[in-house]
Amino acid sequence: MTRSLKIWFSVAAVLAILSGCAKERPLQERTRILLGTVVTVKAYVDSGEDAYPLIDAALDEMSRIDSICGYLESSEVSRINRNSGHPVSVSEEAVTIIAKSVKYSELSGGALDVTVLPVTRLWNRFEGAEMQVPPRSSVDSALALVDYRGLVLTDSTAMLSAVGGSIDLGALAKGYAVDRGVAVMESLGASGGLIDAGGDIMTFGRKPDGKGWRIGLKDPRTPDSILTVFELEGKAIATSGDYERYFTKDNIRYHHILDPETGFPARRCCSVTVIADLACDADAIATAVFVLGPEKGMDLIETLPGVEALIVVCEDHTGKKILRSSGLGRYSTPG
Ligand code: ADP
Ligand code: MG
Repeated sequence: MTRSLKIWFSVAAVLAILSGCAKERPLQERTRILLGTVVTVKAYVDSGEDAYPLIDAALDEMSRIDSICGYLESSEVSRINRNSGHPVSVSEEAVTIIAKSVKYSELSGGALDVTVLPVTRLWNRFEGAEMQVPPRSSVDSALALVDYRGLVLTDSTAMLSAVGGSIDLGALAKGYAVDRGVAVMESLGASGGLIDAGGDIMTFGRKPDGKGWRIGLKDPRTPDSILTVFELEGKAIATSGDYERYFTKDNIRYHHILDPETGFPARRCCSVTVIADLACDADAIATAVFVLGPEKGMDLIETLPGVEALIVVCEDHTGKKILRSSGLGRYSTPG
């Protein structure tokens, strides 16, 4: 999400690993700061045509999604938030994205809550130098405004019933933008590629050498090293972690994924990676599972067809525990 003046350079939690492919079609790429993160788009066209116009079209499309979902005053979501208590006319696409977020709010029983912004705001969205723990009384007042069930959607309007309530699409907007960017490149004739928006990745086609895309997952406590590598084809992967946007105070780590039960950062997981068909689903599910914690989170994953996950639980003095969903093995690479 574009954070008005301050832009956060989030380090990708997952890295696209490319092997040399000198003889094949060149994989072209561009990087832009968008949606409050570093977005990299890579693509090639079988015919050998220049892929840059397609890549630029994908980046423009992602920028358009930011103008719907982002924190800028002019975004559609900001307009809904400024007019809480009243129905606001919005685009069909805004309704689609918000409805997705409501769906995952329901599915997770409010662990992901699309109306969490009054609380996220208190934590300064984990940006800038002023990061500090907000007073309990402010958190409680903000929490009183958080309830996805008070968000009323029609085909063309959205209304926050709670006056002062506000929507935060940060849990899935990047994923949705990635999906749209890929759809644009495919419709324009790209043969393969990927988009990586700060760790939310969607792949399509194969690499120019005919192989799948290798995606490395960072170790949440030593982010310079790779925990495991997945090989994907036409799938999306997203990671929610406690190691990119955070600060520490009195030896406690405060990060940007909040538990709507407490208004404080969710404590049980340190990283959740989800593989799904679409990046917006992977993104939303990763955030929801992070808040639900490893047991309830993995139970949820096992009920969702075509969705796999790797959860890392960090036990400060005893190392980390890794949980894998039953079908994750099909994406693992030897070694
Ligand atoms: P990232 O944006 O770093 O990829 P996530 O996809 O996990 O990470 O989304 C975290 C963002 O989602 C936060 O910055 C905030 O905007 C929003 N958020 C935090 N906690 C919740 C929650 N419980 N429900 C819905 N959105 C949340
Ligand atoms: Mg997410």
